Amino acid sequence: MVRVRTEREIDLIAESAQIVADTLDMISERVKSGVTLLKLDMLAEKFIRSQGAIPAFKGYMGFPATLCISVNDEVVHGIPSNNVLNDGQIVGIDCGAVKNGYYGDSARTFAVGNISNKDKDLIETTQEALYHGINKAVPGNYVSDIGHAIQTFVEPKGYSIVRELVGHGIGTNLHEDPQVPNYGDPGMGIVLKEGMCLAIEPMINRGGREVYTLDDGWTVKTKDGYNSAHFEHTIAIRKHGPVVLSGSRLNG
Ligand code: MG
Ligand code: MG
Repeated sequence: MVRVRTEREIDLIAESAQIVADTLDMISERVKSGVTLLKLDMLAEKFIRSQGAIPAFKGYMGFPATLCISVNDEVVHGIPSNNVLNDGQIVGIDCGAVKNGYYGDSARTFAVGNISNKDKDLIETTQEALYHGINKAVPGNYVSDIGHAIQTFVEPKGYSIVRELVGHGIGTNLHEDPQVPNYGDPGMGIVLKEGMCLAIEPMINRGGREVYTLDDGWTVKTKDGYNSAHFEHTIAIRKHGPVVLSGSRLNG
């Protein structure tokens, strides 16, 4: 069942989503060569708790940490370890928070120091793809119009789209109906309505779309070893279109 949220509920989802955005803003300044992934995770947990919220991923289906940190060919769901970031890597950081029973969820992919032009383009394309999808989240459109917009933007550039993992409704649970794939034909699935809240999250690969999960049960990697990027926003569908609830407060 896809929920339509009241104004008050949207305000509460927005509050949690803003805490996630502020966490990612804070973390973005710490993404540097030499920092351990566990240090970033610890900082994120501290910050989220300082805002009166709880890390949404920690303990979710047994996930052990506050952040999912996915480096280079890791697509999503990387577990923070004592590994350090190195110059030239790209790192996807996914964060969720819950406050007053309402969830926010957002991800960004960052450059560590100087990265290749190919990886720069991958990151820019994935972020742009997210906005192409968000722009379709208007009342009266179909849920598959979102993925169709992402696919028709991304694939002509020679990139591929991960299909095993999808976006989702969000609100009183981290993951709710509907599923929001990042590909597909337009005009399918539910009709979007004012008051629905979604997490839209394209995962884009430089190589093929095939992925596999490591023995840790979480980390998803590309099969061919090419790098992957991930961006996600929590959005509300309003009368005149989408409103991003997890936007950065930093410039640019
Ligand atoms: Mg997420
Ligand atoms: Mg999500």
